Amino acid sequence: MTTYLKDKEYYSNLYDEGTVGRCRRTVEHYKKTAKTKDKLGQIKDRWSQVSLNLSLFFLKGERFADKETTIEKWMERGRQRDELLQTKPPTVYCPKCNQLMELGLANLETNFETEVDRVYFIFGCKSCKETRGLYANGEEYIFKGNLCPECNTKWESKHIKTAKKITTHNLCPKCGNKETYTLDLFPKPKEKEEPDPDFAKDKLEYCLSEEEGRKYVSYKYDLKNMVRIVDEFKDHQKNKVVYEKAQNIKQLSLADLSELLNKGLKKSNYVGLSITNPQVGKDLIINFSVQDDKVGRENYESCQMLRKALVKLLGGTNWKLMSDGVSYKLGVLTGRLRGQDDKDQIYEDLKSSLI
Ligand SMILES: [Zn+2]
Ligand SMILES: [Zn+2]
Repeated sequence: MTTYLKDKEYYSNLYDEGTVGRCRRTVEHYKKTAKTKDKLGQIKDRWSQVSLNLSLFFLKGERFADKETTIEKWMERGRQRDELLQTKPPTVYCPKCNQLMELGLANLETNFETEVDRVYFIFGCKSCKETRGLYANGEEYIFKGNLCPECNTKWESKHIKTAKKITTHNLCPKCGNKETYTLDLFPKPKEKEEPDPDFAKDKLEYCLSEEEGRKYVSYKYDLKNMVRIVDEFKDHQKNKVVYEKAQNIKQLSLADLSELLNKGLKKSNYVGLSITNPQVGKDLIINFSVQDDKVGRENYESCQMLRKALVKLLGGTNWKLMSDGVSYKLGVLTGRLRGQDDKDQIYEDLKSSLI
């Protein structure tokens, strides 16, 4: 049994009605605010006309782009609501005479803010006419109309029935609030809504065809790319020096690095380079150790000299000494180096190191 879920065509029409409505409102808005109009109220000033066309172009395109997912969402909601209505009602006894109560109806309550639906059941007692409402989890359902809106106290109600209508007088025993409403027993049938004479024409104009829609989507994709490329270009222009530096950086493999350091460090009397424990992540991180070969060079001085030598050797390459620096023990120095291979990342790092 389905109550809420309708076929796809229903939702497609509903969505198109929404699109036509929005486009019409946009046109109306521009007509109202246009500076010059002809006798028929059509926009004459060029600027308003151009802005209107642009607004419509994006509105129509975006409505097309969102259509499928919106319809899917609506249908899923309908499916869930139907499923909820299938929930098994709890067994309920009359609070007045303790008889088993009969299920009157199952209904949904919708919270418009959270869009969460809850099912509730209304039970009736055959012997004493008491009614009771419960949610599926057993929580009491409060009949909204049964409470005084001022203080949430239960109304004292009097019903006066005539041949044509029932008039209900509610009186709040706590705050004295009063309310009267009438139920028409023979309401006039609702007048049929006039069919919208322009709908078909407007739908053709405002709801994009499959082909037009796909064009818009690919256009939007190109536009986004273009904006990104222009932004990148502007950024590179602004940081020209850094950008060129990043572009000209020397990319050294681990073997290149090992050769460079072996030769270079020997000149400063650090020998026996060993590279261990390479860790591959976003960057490559390695541990290294060397021995100080210069007699009489102590801890502090040795560390300083090695740090200087490394900064000099690695300058202009994609490798650098990590911030924990170098440490010294009994003539052996150790530290960590980080190697990057992504030029964009090198550029970003260089840029942020200058700020
Ligand atoms: Zn009862
Ligand atoms: Zn009250």
